[in-house]
Amino acid sequence: MKASRFFISTLKEAPADAEVASHRLMMRAGMIKKLGTGIYTYMPMGLRVIRKVEAIVREEMNRAGAVELAMPVVQPAEIWQEAGRFQGYGPELLRIKDRHDRDFVIQPTSEEVVTDIARQEIRSYKQLPKNFYQIQTKFRDERRPRFGLMRGREFIMKDAYSFDRDLDGAKASYKIMSDAYRRAFDRFGLRYRAVAADSGAIGGDVSQEFQVIAATGEDAIVYCPDSDYAANMEKAEALAPAGPRPAAADALTKTPTPGKATCEDVAALLGVPLATTVKSLVLATEELDDAGNVRKVTVWLLLLRGDHDMNEIKVSKVPGLDQGFRFATVTEIEDHFGCKPGYLGPLNPRQPVKIVADREVAVMADWICGANEVDFHLTGVNWGRDLPEPDAVADLRNVVAGDASPDGRGLLAIERGIEVGHVFVLGTKYSKPMNATFLDEAGKPQFLEMGCYGIGITRLPAAAIEQNNDERGIIWPDAIAPFTVVVCPIGMDRSAEVKTAAEALYEQLLAAGVDVLLDDRGERPGAMFADWELIGVPHRVVISDRGLKEGQLEYQHRRDTAATKVPAAGIADFIAGRL
Ligand code: ATP
Ligand code: MG
Ligand code: MG
Ligand code: MG
Repeated sequence: MKASRFFISTLKEAPADAEVASHRLMMRAGMIKKLGTGIYTYMPMGLRVIRKVEAIVREEMNRAGAVELAMPVVQPAEIWQEAGRFQGYGPELLRIKDRHDRDFVIQPTSEEVVTDIARQEIRSYKQLPKNFYQIQTKFRDERRPRFGLMRGREFIMKDAYSFDRDLDGAKASYKIMSDAYRRAFDRFGLRYRAVAADSGAIGGDVSQEFQVIAATGEDAIVYCPDSDYAANMEKAEALAPAGPRPAAADALTKTPTPGKATCEDVAALLGVPLATTVKSLVLATEELDDAGNVRKVTVWLLLLRGDHDMNEIKVSKVPGLDQGFRFATVTEIEDHFGCKPGYLGPLNPRQPVKIVADREVAVMADWICGANEVDFHLTGVNWGRDLPEPDAVADLRNVVAGDASPDGRGLLAIERGIEVGHVFVLGTKYSKPMNATFLDEAGKPQFLEMGCYGIGITRLPAAAIEQNNDERGIIWPDAIAPFTVVVCPIGMDRSAEVKTAAEALYEQLLAAGVDVLLDDRGERPGAMFADWELIGVPHRVVISDRGLKEGQLEYQHRRDTAATKVPAAGIADFIAGRL
């Protein structure tokens, strides 16, 4: 591809609503363009990344024996009513009407349609197992669409559905899929963990999420560095003993003693259910002297109601605390207490939390409150009792770093992740209500045992960027970069030698099957380099008159701090050795 023909549109500034690196950088690099809330055009540069993700997923699905089809995006409500999801799905399901006033939905996934296909097509056990997949547009009317492609309303998902004759078969299909996911995720070149997730009615070890590790991830994942144990927080909590953590339990019985209580304890003392006291947060009050200098800073740790967005926490106004308080950063808290505050994991350590003041609550004076770590708490904390919002998400943890791993092989650690894939044994959840059966050897009808398997195709590039970026821009792993190599000639319009060498190298790399772009726009070097560093092409070759005189070109990987001189004659081999 030549840059003059391609479409490149970079921005100096990201729009104000872009809160996380991937959203900012995808907007600045001209990869996506916003049309409406959670609705984006995949611009040419972004679409190249998406297509590469799709290609890897498609190869691994085919290799695992899944067969591709494409189901309708707009689906009649009737089959959704059969499975009970037309009502049951809730407000995330986009329901529309046609000119005859008939109900339709836009697929958020496609269990109903694929089950309908299976009940018509699969008659005999001899046709099993089968696995159908599609890579298709989905729509979910998310409560909080945000972070660009990370949580869009319209997005692309790979969804696969397996059909087996019994639960053992379904588990075998599930295993094949989760192995295929591992291969795909290895190929993406990302750091990820496959973690146990809640498998609902089926129970057992039959649901896993593929989480790309990133500090900005919305999910907390719990793992044991000394064993294979890894689970998402919900799953880990479901296994953990209920109630206050044992280390602090004795503080509950009497007046709290300094050095013993945690936030959960205080919640229990007040008789507030844990689910209503979702987050703790640190505030700092400042006392100023007459000259306006800070005389004293007091840090307050409060129990708050959160709505799962750790960067924006709703805090009820606590009378007496609303004068002159400011919000401490995690770093300040760490400095102050010499420990990490247990609930502040996902925050950017240098950034104060954005607080949305809510309503007044009664103050309860002078309690002891903890940092969810034994021996680190405050006395004299004043804080309020509050009611939950209906949609508040409980994220109060009963599992913290340093707890014993359930397999007894070590201590738990916690990190943040982005859910990019999810594999799941469904059982007969859809086949039963939709009466999808096959005939077994005895000619008896049996319900099909199903599994479903999703990958967020458009979420994946965003997750990749959260994991791989710096102050200059994106750093793509080779496998999903919009271009693998960019050739940057300096002064191509002035120098025939540079032009010839650049075009020759471009043709040579193309012939070798390298996904190369020649930047023939005639930009000045500074602007040209800034563009490619922002866009994040991993390999760059610079061709200049000065270099050519010495028979040299300059190669630089996006992660390198300096360029390497490479003899012009050997550049193609040099690059091949790096891909
Ligand atoms: P989340 O917990 O992030 O809301 P989910 O559990 O609802 O995701 P699934 O139903 O498991 O999502 O769908 C399979 C995959 O589709 C997810 O693992 C994720 O990668 C992707 N996905 C889900 N919702 C979105 C969205 N709003 N935007 C982009 N990708 C999404
Ligand atoms: Mg969801
Ligand atoms: Mg999820
Ligand atoms: Mg999921």
